[in-house]
Amino acid sequence: MIQLTTATAIEKAINKARTVKPRVRVNCFGSYTVTNKQTGATYTVECLKRDGKRFAHCSCAAGKRGRAGYHVAAAVGAHIQLAAEQASH
Ligand SMILES: [Zn+2]
Repeated sequence: MIQLTTATAIEKAINKARTVKPRVRVNCFGSYTVTNKQTGATYTVECLKRDGKRFAHCSCAAGKRGRAGYHVAAAVGAHIQLAAEQASH
């Protein structure tokens, strides 16, 4: 499980996501499938909130070790957008 603190903490991953531009598919609110369009590799990222803290979980090797990679950054970006859309309705 990866704890998401500030955007700065995952800035490197965000920059990588901007370069790689993976495809993010929404499975449901909080669950995303991230695809690397170059390699075709897919990863499942889950975003959740517990005790007011935000966490993410990624199915890749780095994610399992608690490291936030670009998969997490891409999914979190989609998650925040989705949360904002839901809040505006
Ligand atoms: Zn990952």
